[in-house]
Amino acid sequence: MRFFTTVHLLLLTYVVAALVFWGFSLNEKSHEIYKQGVTILKTEVDSTMYPEMYNARTQQLQSQLETRKKQYIGEGSTFLLVILIGAAVVYSSFRRSIRLSRQQNNFMLSVTHELKSPIAAMKLNLQTLERHQLDEEKKNLLIDRCVKEANRLNDLCNNMLIASQMEGRQYVPAREELQFDELVKASVKDYTSRYPNRFTETAADNCRLSGDKLLLQMAINNLLENAVKYTPADTIVSISLKAKGSSCILQIADNGPGIPDAEKAKIFNKFYRIGNEETRKSKGTGLGLYLTSKIVKQHNGKITVTDNTPAGSVFEITLPLLA
Ligand code: ADP
Repeated sequence: MRFFTTVHLLLLTYVVAALVFWGFSLNEKSHEIYKQGVTILKTEVDSTMYPEMYNARTQQLQSQLETRKKQYIGEGSTFLLVILIGAAVVYSSFRRSIRLSRQQNNFMLSVTHELKSPIAAMKLNLQTLERHQLDEEKKNLLIDRCVKEANRLNDLCNNMLIASQMEGRQYVPAREELQFDELVKASVKDYTSRYPNRFTETAADNCRLSGDKLLLQMAINNLLENAVKYTPADTIVSISLKAKGSSCILQIADNGPGIPDAEKAKIFNKFYRIGNEETRKSKGTGLGLYLTSKIVKQHNGKITVTDNTPAGSVFEITLPLLA
């Protein structure tokens, strides 16, 4: 990147310097043309005998000189502007492609980890079950862990699959009538069984809307997953679903570290994760919120994130209700 910036700047400086140089050279030539014109004029017209004619011709030569100067400045500035715009476009698209390739690289690293760690955990639990004679309680605990890991793997694969299908426009979202409140309840029930005592849910209003069950469930799950993943284990996540006018509003409020203002818009970008790979403790792909916001937009809704009080974040999804 630094090499590209240096070469880019050098080339740009060269082009601008060359342009200025040719501008000055042309101006000098123009003055020479003027001087030659005056010399020829002196041989053709006697200034003492025909002063009016002489002055008129000199003024004509001067106005030609002025016109040429304006032409050089006008064309030179347009050319310079075009070069500067072109250089800015090239630079910003190069930066974007470098950033994307870095993010994709990080994505591959995290995906490999995300895929391997539940598989390794399941393998270990199953081997323990196979090799040891365990009592019923321990067996159930290990089986429960395996189910949790399989669920994690399933969510991750769904996210990756749907993200790539949506990108390639192969996934056509369904438009069926559904009860959004039932989807929220099902997700909260599932997450409460996976993470007991982490969620509180206020009574949900009846929310009938048109959409794709699988996608909407995935959007809710992504927000619940993040609320658990990025907050301390002893904090509570509150969920509320309300119908207001012609919309329904789902709020998922956590009491974690919150999201800095400068990051709030960026977290919805593809592969974006706060911090850097070396210092980050939590694992993920940076696909969850990107996909969630895409799904919400596809349902003509909107998603926002604000600060919770005293700490944490509130993710809010607003979706249009069926009339
Ligand atoms: P992933 O969880 O795979 O990293 P996401 O797209 O779901 O990807 O989230 C993007 C980033 O937003 C996360 O890396 C995390 O830094 C931040 N984030 C998301 N939800 C929360 C939350 N509830 N609290 C704090 N940070 C969050």
